[in-house]
Amino acid sequence: MTSASPDAGDPRARVAELRPLLARAAHAYYVLDAPVMEDAVYDRLYRELADLEAAHPELITLDSPTQRVGGTPAEGFTSVEHRIPLLSLDNAFSIEELEAWYTRLLKVLDRLPEGEAPRPALAMVGELKIDGNALALSYREGVLIRAATRGDGERGEEITANVRTIQSVPLRLPLAQPPAWLEVRGEALIPDATFAAINAERTERGEPPFANPRNACAGTLRQLDPKVVAARHLDFFAYTLHLPEDWQPGGGDPPRPGDQWGSLQWLRAAGFKVNPNAELLGDLAAVEAFFGRWEEARRQLPYATDGVVMKLNDLRLQADAGFTQKAPRWAIALKYAAEEAPSRLLRLVAQV
Ligand code: NAD
Repeated sequence: MTSASPDAGDPRARVAELRPLLARAAHAYYVLDAPVMEDAVYDRLYRELADLEAAHPELITLDSPTQRVGGTPAEGFTSVEHRIPLLSLDNAFSIEELEAWYTRLLKVLDRLPEGEAPRPALAMVGELKIDGNALALSYREGVLIRAATRGDGERGEEITANVRTIQSVPLRLPLAQPPAWLEVRGEALIPDATFAAINAERTERGEPPFANPRNACAGTLRQLDPKVVAARHLDFFAYTLHLPEDWQPGGGDPPRPGDQWGSLQWLRAAGFKVNPNAELLGDLAAVEAFFGRWEEARRQLPYATDGVVMKLNDLRLQADAGFTQKAPRWAIALKYAAEEAPSRLLRLVAQV
């Protein structure tokens, strides 16, 4: 016997150990809004499982936490099917992993040069990765008719009444020629100050505080009484636009966007709140500089972020790159190390 952990040499046994552990943690996190594990620990164990599965593909099962998005829709709300699946994002935890993603992207797009030739630059949009909850908003003839959570990516919870209380979600779009349908995706969030106030109240009532603003936001969106949601003053930043193929702008409407940068401008013109810190980045060096800049600067923001998201700018190239089962190949979340977040939030809670 060696002194290593009992499963170190047996991937099958380790996979069998990790899967139920991660599945329980994901259920607590996504469905109950009450995590039982630190995010950094979850991320590390998840990565260990994903690496084992990559090395031993025969061990992959469809129910593995690596093969699914989020959690199953909670009970108490109608579950609705997403018109277009609402997937997760792949993560990179270092600049090396970002570079590896970029190389894979060039390869998928058939743009990876031979030998030592310089790699072509692909324009990216850098956005903050806001630690909230993804929502899909459906508009018919420019009127908000449905709002849904991400759920398992295929089906989410219908929470329209709650989302209608968010002041930054337009109920009617100021378009001359509104399309028959359109979908906007973005992040609902709870600002730090509100988060601290909610937790102070919960502690006073003897209830367990929410672990982080994301869980507090998810818990709020699932309140059965929209008045409670309204009192919590959620916010919403829009970042994705799905327009029907045949939509053409009417007089004064913003032009149809051909890239992610244009989509953000379109959303802004249509009355959505778009995070002002997004930037158009010409190459990988600019992407790395954006990531570096926000590592410190994000601490001055009044809401939590846990990284930045890089999105290939050109929508046609996005379509060429496509999706894996869980995430787009044309985007990546670059995450910051976890140390600061809990202490920063605890400081805020202590101030209330
Ligand atoms: P993710 O949070 O890593 O990335 C996807 C999400 O990013 C999207 O769904 C969207 O909500 C959000 N996002 C924020 N800004 C965005 C932007 N500008 N553009 C696009 N998306 C943006 O992935 P996930 O699947 O939602 O969650 C996985 C993470 O959740 C893990 O890395 C872990 O930290 C945490 N988690 C923790 C536990 C636990 O037990 N502590 C369990 C499960 C998951």
